[in-house]
Amino acid sequence: MKNRILISEIKTHLGQEITIAGWVDIRRDHGKLIFIDLRDVSGKVQMVALPNHKEASEVCQKLRGEWVIKVQGKVNPRPPKLVNTKEPNGEVEIEILDVTILNEATTPPIDVRDDGREVSEEVRLKYRYQDLRRPRLQKNIINRHKVMLHVRNVFDKEGFREIETPLLSATTPEGSRDFIVPSRIEHGKFFSLPQSPQQYKQLLMTAGFERYFQFARCMRDEDGRGDRQPEFTQMDMEMSFVEQEDVMAINEKVMIGLITALYPNKKIQQIPFPRMSYKDAMEKYGVDKPDIRNDKNDPDLLAFLWVIDWPFFEIDEKGKARDDGGPNWTFTHNPFSAPTPECMVDLMAQKNISSIMTTQYDMVLNGAEIGGGSIRNHTPEALRTVFRIMGYTDERIDKNFGHMLSALGSGTPPHGGMAWGFDRLLTFLENEPNIREVIAFPKTGEGRDLMMGAPSDVMPEQLRELGIKIQN
Ligand code: ASP
Repeated sequence: MKNRILISEIKTHLGQEITIAGWVDIRRDHGKLIFIDLRDVSGKVQMVALPNHKEASEVCQKLRGEWVIKVQGKVNPRPPKLVNTKEPNGEVEIEILDVTILNEATTPPIDVRDDGREVSEEVRLKYRYQDLRRPRLQKNIINRHKVMLHVRNVFDKEGFREIETPLLSATTPEGSRDFIVPSRIEHGKFFSLPQSPQQYKQLLMTAGFERYFQFARCMRDEDGRGDRQPEFTQMDMEMSFVEQEDVMAINEKVMIGLITALYPNKKIQQIPFPRMSYKDAMEKYGVDKPDIRNDKNDPDLLAFLWVIDWPFFEIDEKGKARDDGGPNWTFTHNPFSAPTPECMVDLMAQKNISSIMTTQYDMVLNGAEIGGGSIRNHTPEALRTVFRIMGYTDERIDKNFGHMLSALGSGTPPHGGMAWGFDRLLTFLENEPNIREVIAFPKTGEGRDLMMGAPSDVMPEQLRELGIKIQN
């Protein structure tokens, strides 16, 4: 739009004529004078239509909340009595010279000028494109971008490369249910949406990139649990020729740097981040992600904690009994993890399984797990043994993980990595109660997209093409 300036720039144009555009935040009709607050992405400003600008005044009579308009006006200082020092534009007022209506708006179903915490979430998510206009959500989404950009730049400087990995993939053993996508070309076959880029990022280490990261979308088909979303974002990273301490150190450094740069009002309780073994956490706090804040009333206190020394395996009480009648061992975190170096002998001998420890490290923040990772098994023998301990037959191991075994046997360096739950981290940085407040288009707690109406029926011919019949 020709000559348009942002509302945040108005103050530098005192006494001048300007063009601005945006949404009518509120209109107050005082008879002869009409006041309109105009809002754009950068802020708000008060404007006034005076009776001597007859045409503009007439248009302003018609305006309603959320209409989109363009205004030509003069930036006047406010009379001293009317100055509002709390508002960024509280010292100026726009005298409206000309108004163009760019689009009208139906009466909004929700008020977008306040925090919206009282509005039902169903309505907010159905009209998310309006809900997102509220200043709190504009701030959250824009800050999300800033955090992403900061992290990207830091990892880039550290020699990491952002590499995209596929969304259509094969089923992975991450511990949750996969979302599956039917193949049209091969009826009866399915892709899986990744629960994380775990295998791909390890294969990138095989491929020699040495330092990878990605803001990766992960999909897990779990029943809605409070703060979970069926799709969420991880800041995922992996690096070669490292040990546990190296991966923990770089993640800690990036996290501290990000908070210092972008959230200077936050206080990190302890640097370097303290560490606690899984055993101590369970004994002292009864949970594997303790909240170690000294002062739980301070919303700006961030108590990071590394939880380390995890057992590699646990008995899967709910799992299907093994064919060979052996104990139902499953992994506690990640089947691709390596045991601690001193436990490698027991792993390979499949001995003392319950006391084998993994190189897993979880990053806990104020009682929530916000990240985790491990050093990986980088030899095919060790990875195969993990699956054998879990009762997988060699046939199944080769079928499901043949590509990983073959990659590990093709010259894979020692490597390890970590992923941060990016949405959850943002809830702490933005003081929000749940991840839906920091995601532009979240699903409901039950995993529905109320705005798009998903999941939804599909056309009968789409099912026919896929060779699928719905059974009720
Ligand atoms: N892939 C793991 C996860 O999603 C993270 C990691 O070990 O790097 O939890």
